[in-house]
Amino acid sequence: MKPLIALVGRPNVGKSTLFNRILRQKSAIVDPTPGVTRDRHISPGEWQGKQFLLMDTGGYAPENDSLSVSMLEQTLRAFEDADAIIFMVDARAGLTYLDLDITKILQKTFKDKKIFFVANKVDNPQVALEAQSLVRSGFTEPYFISARDGAGVADMLDDVLASLPCPEGEGIEEDDSIKLAVLGRPNVGKSSMVNALLGAERQIVSDVPGTTRDAIDSVLKRNGEEYTLIDTAGLRKRTKIDAGIEFYSSIRTARAIERCNVALVLLDARLGLESQDMKIIHMAIERKKGVLILVNKWDLVEKDSKTSKAFTDNLQQQLGNIGYIPVLFTSALTKKNCYRAIDTAAQIALNRRQKISTSNLNRFLQEAISMRHPSTKSGKELKIKYMTQIESGHPVFAFFCNDPELLESNFRRFLEKRLREHFDFAGIPITMRFLRK
Ligand code: GDP
Ligand code: GDP
Repeated sequence: MKPLIALVGRPNVGKSTLFNRILRQKSAIVDPTPGVTRDRHISPGEWQGKQFLLMDTGGYAPENDSLSVSMLEQTLRAFEDADAIIFMVDARAGLTYLDLDITKILQKTFKDKKIFFVANKVDNPQVALEAQSLVRSGFTEPYFISARDGAGVADMLDDVLASLPCPEGEGIEEDDSIKLAVLGRPNVGKSSMVNALLGAERQIVSDVPGTTRDAIDSVLKRNGEEYTLIDTAGLRKRTKIDAGIEFYSSIRTARAIERCNVALVLLDARLGLESQDMKIIHMAIERKKGVLILVNKWDLVEKDSKTSKAFTDNLQQQLGNIGYIPVLFTSALTKKNCYRAIDTAAQIALNRRQKISTSNLNRFLQEAISMRHPSTKSGKELKIKYMTQIESGHPVFAFFCNDPELLESNFRRFLEKRLREHFDFAGIPITMRFLRK
């Protein structure tokens, strides 16, 4: 039996947007289950191999605050058959009295159900900051997401599904072939890179915007392996209007990231890492994909024996806590390091799928804890009893402990650092979950 997850919230908070985002990858099978009324859209979905049903409750959403509490209770009974409820509010609009009433009723009526509080439309750090105040207004432990851009959706869904017994599906991303997205700002050399790799001049490369063909996937055969190159270079063709470029390119980039295992993010060596590049990198990290940075046009940089080291050091400093992303210096013109980029990306894709045995992990954990005890907060000590890797397309580790609230961020960072030193996770985001046991 697939568990049923209901999306609940006032009109316009973004339920349909989230519904479509979650189900997009399997859009072919999105059709209403027979026998359900039109205003309850139920569609099967799959995420990281787990199968579920998602209910968009447009017609059942409480319309306004003229409803009495008892009527509201009646309305919310519609969600009785859901196994989990995602209750969504609009972070930009803030909490309304209706939101607070619904929160209370949900908590009272569905004591035995999993209820997840989600603040949507958190599109940028500014809103994220403002949304923190929701926590103080009694909205417990909200997830901050942007259903429109996808930020935070993966983490939320991971948690929702972890709380439910889901039958395993075949997995969306995890077919055998390695999929590499070639990403970067216009003119960094994406088309040139794809051409260099594929040998034939399949694409017209030019400095004149509008001449690159629309993106299609290409297959690269190398050492008996087949790689799919997902190339976003064509984005300029679609957008003749300047204002639209950024918008379309970010959608194109997001789609390519969604489908890939590893993102190759190209930079222009002469320009270094700019905010637009950081945005692309963060999109890939957010979606738990592998990342490799290619500093392209390296042939144009005047260099001595120290240049690449200095460049890497500088990059790592800018990347901060995602400094685990490997860097290669490439030239699509001279083909320097182009194939090495593919081999490195392939290694990242393999490492990302590695499954570490529980005994191996616990040996690691004992050693880590003996090096540094979790610091003590309010006199109580965090005790991590054991850890295990959760089956997933990307590395997820669960740490079972006496009280997850006692975890301090510097100890979490220490554990992640040790994990990275011990196992090969270069270029790979790691998810760490601390659970009560
Ligand atoms: P529903 O009626 O509650 O299902 O809400 P919709 O999904 O139809 O969204 C209502 C409006 O909010 C639409 O204009 C969406 O484009 C917009 N919206 C949804 N999610 C987001 C988001 O994450 N950020 C922003 N800025 N707008 C969003
Ligand atoms: P895209 O917009 O990212 O696909 O970039 P293009 O592949 O169209 O490249 C933009 C321009 O940079 C073209 O004139 C290319 O010839 C040039 N270019 C791309 N890669 C390199 C490189 O590694 N070295 C040099 N010197 N030029 C490059």
